[in-house]
Amino acid sequence: MRGGRDEQLERLASTSFDLLVIGAGAIGSATAWCASLAGARVAIVDRGDVAGATSSASSKLMHGGLRYLAMGDIGLVREAHHERRIHARTVAPHLVRPLEFVVPVGPESPTALWQVRAGVFLYGALARFADGRNGRISLAAARRRVPPLLTGGLRGTVLYHDHQTHDARLALSALAGAADAGATVVPHAEAVALRMQGGAVSGAEVRDRLGGAAVSVAARAVVNASGPWVDAVRRLEDPAAGTSVLLSKGAHAVLTGGAGWTAAVTTPLPGGRVSFAIPWEGMLLLGTTDEPYDGDPAAVAASDADVAQILAEAGRSLAADVLDPALVRSRFAGVRVLPAAGSSTIRARRETVVNRGRGGMVSVAGGKLTTWRLIGARAARLALAPLGGGSVPRRPVPLPGAGRLAAVERSLAEASPDLPVDVRAHLARHYGTRAAEVVAAAGGDPALLGRIHPDGPDIWAQAVYGRDREWAATVDDILRGRTTVALRGLDDERVRAEVERVLRR
Ligand SMILES: Cc1cc2nc3c(=O)[nH]c(=O)nc-3n(C[C@H](O)[C@H](O)[C@H](O)COP(=O)(O)OP(=O)(O)OC[C@H]3O[C@@H](n4cnc5c(N)ncnc54)[C@H](O)[C@@H]3O)c2cc1C
Repeated sequence: MRGGRDEQLERLASTSFDLLVIGAGAIGSATAWCASLAGARVAIVDRGDVAGATSSASSKLMHGGLRYLAMGDIGLVREAHHERRIHARTVAPHLVRPLEFVVPVGPESPTALWQVRAGVFLYGALARFADGRNGRISLAAARRRVPPLLTGGLRGTVLYHDHQTHDARLALSALAGAADAGATVVPHAEAVALRMQGGAVSGAEVRDRLGGAAVSVAARAVVNASGPWVDAVRRLEDPAAGTSVLLSKGAHAVLTGGAGWTAAVTTPLPGGRVSFAIPWEGMLLLGTTDEPYDGDPAAVAASDADVAQILAEAGRSLAADVLDPALVRSRFAGVRVLPAAGSSTIRARRETVVNRGRGGMVSVAGGKLTTWRLIGARAARLALAPLGGGSVPRRPVPLPGAGRLAAVERSLAEASPDLPVDVRAHLARHYGTRAAEVVAAAGGDPALLGRIHPDGPDIWAQAVYGRDREWAATVDDILRGRTTVALRGLDDERVRAEVERVLRR
């Protein structure tokens, strides 16, 4: 870690910050990054792991959002298209990659073929046709892209373009950028109360959830980016604060599969939902459900019933043999945040809630991963405005590690020819130009350049790098948040015990 956890906690207690961000999901991380780039002294805390909640439980798409098109929110679609393109070009080319989507339209599809064709045409137009042609393709062309696609009885198949990413790594990269600019980053540290001075919020009382220490953090401004917890944190400022958001649970399943797919599948479902089947990390990601949720956001989990529903919905478009429950490697769930009707917001776009509380705290929640950077920049501007000082950049700034995949893979191959090709590709995709730092974290120890599990591409040096450079403090931080080991279902007892040893070293 950058200076060690004790040192970070000490800095949290002893520094007078310009901005404290509560919540290190995608939005909080972007806020901290943007404010740090503006020259502010920033601290960011999270009650759990960084990006450990919604921001590691998404469908991992950077998309314009066909759904918003159906709702008529053209501005939002255009903005999201723009964001995904500048991410792929400038902000994080290694983390954001183009992906084709096939929409099969059958007799039971809730949307007619002509509607889907018209929709994807308009979708492409709003992206200025920059991704390739959207429109009808033959069933044979669809099956070439997705071999197990069921084509019997289909009225037609339609193709459109979006991007896919790795949600948690986007947030981690922003935190790395914030830390490079001097920010203090402390996960597993919960804001349990706010400091008040003359009626104004002036920091927070924070509890270290690993060591138990209480830390009082002084800050001139506070942003509440606590996602599904946004109203709980608003009530720390004003116990009478009402409800600004509604929650909905979405679950995913990760299966062995996806080999030979060059496109994802978007199956329209009744009620305006879709089922995604996405080739991701050499596996198949299926989801998602959408159920109202009023439980504890920390307790959200994908149930057996969720997985059964996900497999059944994917089965409308895919052959049964690729959806065998025995192929499920892992599952996860997250909580969507939607603006509550009538919530008192000073800026409520269709999906984002931003408000300033009685004590001046800026609360921001909802929106999409796709527009995380914009939402974070807006929150940082709003919070820093009363303080004067530096300005948040409006141009797209590359995240640490930003680089073209081919170039990163080439330089890794030259520097580390002994690493297997799949490991090099994995490191390049996750760390970009910083992959070389991960390899260096092995310190020349060949054991640390070995695989964490023989069936996956993650190596031990990632665990060391996660511990020393990316704030990982628990076994789950490493297996879920810094590697793909848990998502692959490879986090067995041997692996867990060995990770424990790495953390204690
Ligand atoms: C099922 C699902 C699929 C999705 N798919 C997509 C997609 O494909 N593309 C897309 O663009 N968007 C998608 N989204 C939306 C996207 O994931 C979210 O908009 C985004 O992750 C929200 O980030 P956040 O930082 O606001 O919230 P979170 O990631 O939940 O972060 C909030 C953080 O605050 C912390 N916190 C809470 N209380 C405290 C406290 N008191 N003290 C300290 N820390 C605290 C939490 O631990 C948490 O880490 C999806 C969402 C869901 C649920």
